[in-house]
Amino acid sequence: MKKNMITISNIKKSFGHNQVLKGIDLNVSKGEVVVIIGPSGSGKTTLLRCLNYLEKPDEGSITIGDFSIDCKHAGKKDIYQLRRKSAMVFQQYNLFKHKSALENVMEGLVVVKKLPKAEARERSVELLKKVGLANKLDAFPSQLSGGQQQRVGIARALALNPDVILFDEPTSALDPELVGEVLSVIRKIAKEGVTMIIVTHEMGFALEVAHHVIFMDQGVIVEEGKPRELFSDPKEERTRQFLKRMH
Ligand code: ADP
Repeated sequence: MKKNMITISNIKKSFGHNQVLKGIDLNVSKGEVVVIIGPSGSGKTTLLRCLNYLEKPDEGSITIGDFSIDCKHAGKKDIYQLRRKSAMVFQQYNLFKHKSALENVMEGLVVVKKLPKAEARERSVELLKKVGLANKLDAFPSQLSGGQQQRVGIARALALNPDVILFDEPTSALDPELVGEVLSVIRKIAKEGVTMIIVTHEMGFALEVAHHVIFMDQGVIVEEGKPRELFSDPKEERTRQFLKRMH
């Protein structure tokens, strides 16, 4: 039995009268790669943001690693602790524009992890090497391609050594020719046993990298399973229709 890393139970979230998450349950094991697919507006991004408390869920509970939170009654301290359990890789990279690649990765280590600067620098250089950017340490985001910026984003997430990395459509802002380099970095760290939840429209990538695929529609998990089974033999009509449209 693999160790459980994430347990999400009955997460609900509304924006005004619009209930976007209608009671989501999900378990993720340590080292597992879960891919979430589904039509635009189905609540995928909101779910990721709730896990990182960029959005506050209305109710439900979240456990990541050794820390649990009851969303209805969570205080500031709980939220702070939960946030530190995950790191997010955003669609639009969200790098500090006035900082170099190296400084972007170092920031979390110095500010959040309180590492001495020299140590933070050493670790950041190592991570930038890992994502293939050893020769771009001093480049500013504006001097980097979208694919390179996103790889800095991934190095920054790895630097925090979180229990889980949450990827929110990490390649959807990229020109097609830059998608491959980002996916291959994600593929590489997935192989190293990092627990991940990835929202993506890249079905080929999902098939290849996911241990488990979730299909969401209208705020619920409609169907989930092993990628090969879900893609080749979906049980639900809504899943079938969605997959047909994606091909
Ligand atoms: P997906 O990632 O599957 O495309 P989202 O989670 O982004 O879906 O959005 C789900 C629904 O929630 C959409 O109807 C969207 O308009 C709404 N929504 C998302 N964020 C907000 C927000 N901050 N305020 C109001 N509505 C939002």
